[in-house]
Amino acid sequence: MKPLSLRTQLTLVYTAIFGVLLVGLGGILYHTLATRLDRSLNEELDERAAALRGFLTLRDGTLQLVFNENDPEQAHFVHDATRFYQIFDVATGEVVVQSREIELLGVRLSPDEVRQLARDPDFSEIQAHNTRIRFHNAVIRDNSAADFLVQVGASLQPVEDALHQFLGTMLLLIPVGALLAALCGWWMARRAIRPVDVLARATREIEISGLHRRLPTRGAGDEIDRLSEAFNETLAKLQASVEQMKQFTAAISHELRTPLTALRGQAEVALFELPSPEEYRRILADQLEEFDKLTRMINHLLILARADAGEIQISHGSVNLSELVNSLVEQMEPVAVSENVELKIAAENDLVVEGDPDWLERVVLNLLDNAVKFTPASGRVVVSLGRENRFARLEVQDTGIGIPADSLPHIFDRFYRADPSRSRLVEGAGLGLSLVKWIVEQHHGRVTAESAMSGGTCFTVWIPLAGRSGNTL
Ligand code: ADP
Repeated sequence: MKPLSLRTQLTLVYTAIFGVLLVGLGGILYHTLATRLDRSLNEELDERAAALRGFLTLRDGTLQLVFNENDPEQAHFVHDATRFYQIFDVATGEVVVQSREIELLGVRLSPDEVRQLARDPDFSEIQAHNTRIRFHNAVIRDNSAADFLVQVGASLQPVEDALHQFLGTMLLLIPVGALLAALCGWWMARRAIRPVDVLARATREIEISGLHRRLPTRGAGDEIDRLSEAFNETLAKLQASVEQMKQFTAAISHELRTPLTALRGQAEVALFELPSPEEYRRILADQLEEFDKLTRMINHLLILARADAGEIQISHGSVNLSELVNSLVEQMEPVAVSENVELKIAAENDLVVEGDPDWLERVVLNLLDNAVKFTPASGRVVVSLGRENRFARLEVQDTGIGIPADSLPHIFDRFYRADPSRSRLVEGAGLGLSLVKWIVEQHHGRVTAESAMSGGTCFTVWIPLAGRSGNTL
């Protein structure tokens, strides 16, 4: 079965609650009215019986009503109060006096019933034809002769009519009220849900190509606005990632196309120009170099992709950073010499950090490689390692070509190469520094770059020293 829409559910719940409330209220009112009417009838019968008693006189061994017939007020009261009225002799159970109305209704009590009522004179009721009559019972005692049971009654018809009328009104009002509640509920639910519908429509209209669009907020600061804001934040993140992916894809294509074109050109030359065996060897050596470059780039890309996917585990052991940096500088020395760049180191001993030696080695090598790469002949690269608060601080300073100020904020981005015209002279795909940044962050550290155009560049890396918890940068 298709689930009910939220609007229908809200309306049903609202109507049900309202309906139950109406029925409950109606029941309480009905009960209160019935009790009130019943009590006031009893009070009226009490009053009537008490007043009539003043006119009752024992005469000739029997009870008689004696009043001034010329007094219209008295006559009217007695006539009215004795509409349902009868007196019994308790001893015999015989009727002594009976009003015309009772006589016509044919209401009779058996001697047993008379005696029973005389023993326990309370209110009693009888059903006569289609009306019920309630009697006030009282016993009047004649010391010398007999006891008399005096019954003064009133019809329950007006009470029943009033209750019926009330019930009829309620039975009409409750469905009408419930219907009104349903209409109100439907309208209110529609009003409450309309912003959600608007949001749903606006969300549906957002395509991947239109991630710059945002959902509208009404400025009410309510749940719906919070939902829009949350969704807009997600959209902004999505937009940033899609943008990054686009740039990434464009950059990869570009980076792959250049070496592939070069390889193809060389292959064409080799094929059509039929060069000498030496020439062949040179072409193949060039191609091997290009292949190496491509392999390096693809390896870098793979590492970054796996890092993004959270698939790379960084081990956390103690690493003697001083030894590591010293040995890497030593390893780099021949390259620097071949480039005619002076490479110097000043490292504090036994600085131990917690981390992964292989990944930390990549950091140092990347920075050294860049420094030597971007420093012209007879330049200098100085590596210094020391302690700063609870961090090991590694600095790689060169006297190279420097980085333009507008490029500095981007050099840690993937595929970013400051001023391609100058970088084209040296190989690189603009991936090394983004990997450096990722590795340093995995070690809870930080890396910065400072550069003065033509005044060289300085990269600084901070890695927390081992065994010192709560480091902050
Ligand atoms: P690449 O593989 O191209 O060197 P990197 O991510 O390592 O990529 O560096 C990004 C860019 O930052 C480089 O292309 C270069 O323009 C600039 N750069 C990095 N290190 C230095 C440096 N020591 N001196 C001058 N420019 C540098």
